[in-house]
Amino acid sequence: MAITTRQSMRMAWYLLGQRIAKREKFPLIVELEPLFQCNLACAGCGKIQHPEHVLRRRMPVEQAVRAIEESGAPMVSIAGGEPLVHPEIHIIAAELLERRKFVYLCTNALLLERKLANFKPSPYFSWAIHIDGLKERHDASVEREGVFEKAVSAIKAAKSAGFRVTTNTTFFTHDSPKTIREVLDFLNDELQVDEMMISPAYAYEKAPDQEHFLGVQQTQKLFAEAFANGARRRWRLNHSPLFLDFLEGRVDFECTAWGIPSYSLFGWQRPCYLMSDGYVETYRELIETTDWSRYGRGRDPRCENCMAHCGYEPTAVLETTRSLKQSLRALRA
Ligand code: SF4
Ligand code: SF4
Repeated sequence: MAITTRQSMRMAWYLLGQRIAKREKFPLIVELEPLFQCNLACAGCGKIQHPEHVLRRRMPVEQAVRAIEESGAPMVSIAGGEPLVHPEIHIIAAELLERRKFVYLCTNALLLERKLANFKPSPYFSWAIHIDGLKERHDASVEREGVFEKAVSAIKAAKSAGFRVTTNTTFFTHDSPKTIREVLDFLNDELQVDEMMISPAYAYEKAPDQEHFLGVQQTQKLFAEAFANGARRRWRLNHSPLFLDFLEGRVDFECTAWGIPSYSLFGWQRPCYLMSDGYVETYRELIETTDWSRYGRGRDPRCENCMAHCGYEPTAVLETTRSLKQSLRALRA
C-alpha cells in the first residue's frame, strides 16, 4: 500500500506485532458502514436495497467506536450508504482519530463542501471520493447529471482547506484501457489528489444492473492493457505492487477476507462487505466462528468474479511482508 510514511511505519509495526504475538488472523482495515441510506441510487450499488426502516437507521457513535476498538484494526474505511448523511459522522471520525486510527471517509461528495467545516485536517484522516470516470462516464455511473462537477469542486475545496484527498474508482464492462488511463491521468495530474484506489466492480446479487460486471479474465485483460508500458508507475495508486500485479493477472492469490472485515448496523458481516452469510456481535466471534476455507474463487460460486481489494489486497500485503524483494519493491513504490 503506497501510503504516507507515518501510515506505512505504523502498519509495519502492527504487522510485526501480530507476527510476534503469533496471531494468524487480524484486521488490516475495517469497513465501517454506519448507515445504508444514500443520496444517490447507482445501478451497480449493493447497499441501498434495504427496506425503508433499515435505510432510516443510523449507528450510534459509541457502537461504532466500540466495534473498532474491539477489532484492534489500525485503519478504518467509513462507507455506507453515504456517510455524510449520518448527522454524527464527524463525531465518529473524530473519536477514531483521537484513538490514532487512520480514517478514510468514503463519500460521493455531494454534501462534502457543506459539511467540510465539521472536520479538521489530520495526517490520520483522508477523504476517499467516489469518481468512476470522467464527466459523462461518472454521471452515467451514478445516474445523475452534475455529480462529477460537484465531486471535482469538493476535491478542490478539501485540498485547499488542507485535507488529504484520495479517490475511489470502480471499473465496469463499459470501461476500456483508454478510459482507465484518462480518469487516472486526470485525478493524478490535473486534480493532483494524494492517492487513488481502483477496483473492478463486484457483481452484487441485488444490484439492479447485472449486465456490466467484469469477469476475471476481462478484468485482467483490461488492467494489463491499461497498465501497459509501465503506465501504472506514473500514478499515485494506493495499492501494493503485488495487488496491481494481481489485477493484471501476473500473479494469483487466495482470498483473505478476514483482513478487511465489515461492521455495519447489523454487526460483523460474514465473510466480507460484498457477501452476507449472517452477522455476529464481535470481531473475535467473526474470526472464530467463520469457516474461512469456504470462501474465495473456486470455493464459492458467488466469489467467482471477485477480484476486490477487500479479499485480495490483504493477501498481497501479507505476501509482501514475507519477501524481502517484494518489501523493497513496495518501499520504492
Ligand atoms: S454513491 Fe455509493 S452508496 Fe450511494 S448509491 Fe452509489 S454506490 Fe451506493
Ligand atoms: S472472494 Fe473473498 S472478498 Fe470476494 S466476495 Fe468472496 S469472500 Fe468476499
